Amino acid sequence: MKFELPALPYETGALEPVIGKQTVELHHGKHFQAYITNLNNLVPGTKYENMDLISIVKDSDGPIFNNAGQALNHEIYFSSFSPNGGGEPVGKLGEAIKAQFGDFENFKKEFNAAAVSVFGSGWAWLAADADGKLEIMQGPNADNPIKHGKEPVLTIDVWEHAYYVDCRNERPRFVDGFWSVVNWEFASKAY
Ligand code: MN
Repeated sequence: MKFELPALPYETGALEPVIGKQTVELHHGKHFQAYITNLNNLVPGTKYENMDLISIVKDSDGPIFNNAGQALNHEIYFSSFSPNGGGEPVGKLGEAIKAQFGDFENFKKEFNAAAVSVFGSGWAWLAADADGKLEIMQGPNADNPIKHGKEPVLTIDVWEHAYYVDCRNERPRFVDGFWSVVNWEFASKAY
């Protein structure tokens, strides 16, 4: 299977000032593209060459997992934003967040703490198990909740390439800004 870079559902400058145009151009156009290119170079001749991305992520390890995981994670990540984003989730996801975390503000506090404290390169996730129970998770490198039997609902990339152009070393500032561009409609569909 030949993988292709998914088109952005918004303009590269649409998330400013939280995530700058240059960051989106580099992060989507260069980093995400590189994971796709690497994956396309790695899978021919292996048992993965006709598998879909999620199946590869679940089954693989080593360089194929690293690139497949990053391809999947970035597909979720770049779909999780909208220039009209922000606010609070409604419906089933909003109710579940309130039921499990007390209120939205407390959920945000716990998610922020997880995102800020990922050591080195990685991701923070809101994930759900088969019964719909929510969990905030941290993962290093290309990790994804599907490697742990959970479904991803929302994620933030805290590799330095996600925020260094806009916020330099201030990861907490990037994490705070994230909430004003989150596309809760997308997250709600994943739950
Ligand atoms: Mn990234």
